[in-house]
Amino acid sequence: MDVDGMISVEEARQCILDVVERLPGENRPLEDALGQVLAEDILSELTIPPLDNTAMDGYALRAADTRGASTSSPVELRVIGNVPAGHIFEGEIGPLQAVRIMTGAPIPHGADAVVPFEETTELHCSGPGVTKDRNSVRVYRAVRQDANIRHAGEDVSLGSCVMRAGTELRAAHIGVLASLGRRTVLAYRRPVVAIVSTGNELLALGQPHEMGKIYDSNAYSIAALVQEAGGLPWRLGIARDTSEDLAAKVHAAVDADLLITSAGVSGGDYDVVKDMLLHEEEIQFCSVRMRPGKPLAFGKFKVGERAIPYVGLPGNPVSSMVAFELFGRPAVFKMMAKASWERLARRVTIEDRIENSHGRRIFARAYVREIDGRYYGSLAGSQGSHVLTSMALANALVVCPEDVPVLEPGDAADAIMLGPVLAVRENWEGI
Ligand code: AMP
Ligand code: MG
Repeated sequence: MDVDGMISVEEARQCILDVVERLPGENRPLEDALGQVLAEDILSELTIPPLDNTAMDGYALRAADTRGASTSSPVELRVIGNVPAGHIFEGEIGPLQAVRIMTGAPIPHGADAVVPFEETTELHCSGPGVTKDRNSVRVYRAVRQDANIRHAGEDVSLGSCVMRAGTELRAAHIGVLASLGRRTVLAYRRPVVAIVSTGNELLALGQPHEMGKIYDSNAYSIAALVQEAGGLPWRLGIARDTSEDLAAKVHAAVDADLLITSAGVSGGDYDVVKDMLLHEEEIQFCSVRMRPGKPLAFGKFKVGERAIPYVGLPGNPVSSMVAFELFGRPAVFKMMAKASWERLARRVTIEDRIENSHGRRIFARAYVREIDGRYYGSLAGSQGSHVLTSMALANALVVCPEDVPVLEPGDAADAIMLGPVLAVRENWEGI
């Protein structure tokens, strides 16, 4: 902590990471496991592909039989069968014989290559007494041994470790697990994150608008950020600025893995969060050397037998989102065992002046775009911590360090990317 009682962003984050723990693994249906982290090694009980099979629709044959074949002097083979995918040809291919075969079907015994339909012409002998198995095929090109054959075990071999515990499951992992026949996987649990908004001025969505009041946006923006991070948001509604109401709301969070409140942590007249939680031994209130989002609370909140990790975000809509980004998101990642909470950072050229008169770390809402392989960042509108629309216009937070009093247009800075870089800036009328 510094002389002025403020702590750094890193210190605050460490304190919060210290109070959360990785959650236990749970069996998840495969279709619901996307984005979760494996809590088991995956050993294959199958060979994939199970048998040598064809990569093309065509004819399985003996490569030696096609030696010297060309457009002008094709070889003619007798077609002795037809195998669709999923079937096995029981016989054996002898010299100058071929079997019609469809992609994925196992290679018949005796064959050592497949020639695709495009390089053949099928000849149907017709006339009285001619049966279908007397069809033959002309092959116009010599094929080498093994041509168009996919080998058993090329993808996965029996008994191999296909994925290690700790793998974050992406779409391809889900596909691989399905190919192994897995219906469920053991994955670290997603945290249930209880969200309580506080303030007498707040209206719940659905309530009629009233002069002097505002709709509770924090519960929704934070819930969306929780979801984006992989957690399960649980909105517990609005607590009025009385200790009783707040106590009732936060005690409802008894089954949550993380409790988040917004507002009431700065020390204003009605800041009941602070009044109530100040008595909790394991909760600290602090000022973080950052803007927006200086006031913050964290620790463990006792509900019955449980001590629930707690983060108290500031009330201003942008402050609460930025504070969640810096402190809540890493906590959710840690609980889910995700490897790194760090966002992609880009070095950008600033196009607007960013002043930093109070020696805090500034997280400026910015719009980063790419021109000819270089990145440029301009401010995404007003930087007031109550101006949520500029957060919606931003795709990045441009960082001005504590010890830099001003960033001038043309200066370089780091941008924490919150969304994709686009070539064209979105334009909202009326903002
Ligand atoms: P406070 O920390 O209670 O002083 O709140 C700071 C500012 O954030 C005030 O202008 C509040 O009206 C606003 N605010 C607090 N909670 C919310 C919320 N849930 N949604 C939108 N704005 C809020
Ligand atoms: Mg308030």
